[in-house]
Amino acid sequence: MPADAQISAALQQVSAEDIRANINKLVSFGTRMTTSAQDADAVAAGHGIGAAREWIRSEFERYSKDCGGCLEVKTDTFTEPAADRIPRPTVITNVYAVLKGTDSENAKRIVLVTGHYDSRNSDMADVKGDAPGANDDGSGTAVSLECARVLSKLKFPATIIFLTVAGEEQGLNGSTHFAKMAKEQGWDIEAVLNNDIVGGNQSAEQDHSVVRVFSEGLPQAATEKEIERIRGLGGENDSASRQLARYVADVGRSYKYDVGVVPMLVFRLDRYLRGGDHYSFNKQGFSAIRFTEFREDFHHQHQNVRTENGIEYGDLLKFVDFDYVASVARLNAATLASLASAPAPPTNVHLLVKDLENESTLTWDAPPGGRAASYEVVWRATTSSEWEHVQKVGEVLRATLNLSKDNVIFSVRAVDAAGHYSLPVVPTPQR
Ligand SMILES: [Zn+2]
Repeated sequence: MPADAQISAALQQVSAEDIRANINKLVSFGTRMTTSAQDADAVAAGHGIGAAREWIRSEFERYSKDCGGCLEVKTDTFTEPAADRIPRPTVITNVYAVLKGTDSENAKRIVLVTGHYDSRNSDMADVKGDAPGANDDGSGTAVSLECARVLSKLKFPATIIFLTVAGEEQGLNGSTHFAKMAKEQGWDIEAVLNNDIVGGNQSAEQDHSVVRVFSEGLPQAATEKEIERIRGLGGENDSASRQLARYVADVGRSYKYDVGVVPMLVFRLDRYLRGGDHYSFNKQGFSAIRFTEFREDFHHQHQNVRTENGIEYGDLLKFVDFDYVASVARLNAATLASLASAPAPPTNVHLLVKDLENESTLTWDAPPGGRAASYEVVWRATTSSEWEHVQKVGEVLRATLNLSKDNVIFSVRAVDAAGHYSLPVVPTPQR
């Protein structure tokens, strides 16, 4: 994808110093346990999750003021019933800002970035003790905030949502509620970027040039019929979330000199036997991926702040690399901006299989929104992890390639006049 000068310029506005100040502020609330205080007194005292929530809201409102009210700042509040990690019914609030698309049809399309603003320490029942959560997930919250600050200065045809959720440590409660709401209300969310533990924890074996990008293989929301087709056609590596991860890799190459960190794709839902908020969106059928630093330090996650046998425990500000978080924020911002600038993906993408033949014919429909100026067919060997070949086919809705569908995996994407391209769509067979 050709780098867009306006997007490059916006990436330069991402500030490690602002990110440091924001994570420092989040840490200053002492604890952001979902079950910690959120009454007016605690908010006034600047302690607990209620104070964090109010500060995040005021920060989004400040950015909105700076762009002439371009952001709609909203909350999604609900009461989570008592459960394993929630001793009594607890009010949980997700805070988000909407940068509405400028084109009425394309504004229905949404790309979203999220992080969780709640934190925890060693004890899931400790609602008062320090739980700084600088990296987990002050860093991801700071990414959502910084993307909002920087991208709110630009205009895009599609809508961008900057989200921060709570209840992650209790069982992905905030993201579950938000994703279900989006599904029920029929939101067209094309992409969810979940940033959780992107602080680049300062340790000897950290690689500050790499961020991991996790994506599901078999879609969580696939029906039995879809799973059957995936089995039959070798589609295990082609979920929509995985196409999103590949798109991030493309963006990383296009904006290599602006971003400062290289995405490393991991073809797995999440880290081994662990979870995060993108999963809540996957379960509702949305494409969603997770960004996490290259190497985690478990002394600095979910731990009471203390020193034992010379080891410092606790998720403290001093272990965060703010330049690294800024790089991850740039990669996120470039992905959001590219997708929000691009046309919607083509619809009804099919591979014709009526006759046995060694050529492959693909057909598709123009996406809604009228922004597709042309199309590209991309493909790769079945054993390759990323798209390898591109054929520009122009403003047509059908293409025949002299390549056997038995040997490659195809997809089709829509491209606008400036070269921004959509997520690719893998065809389904049509007789
Ligand atoms: Zn986390």
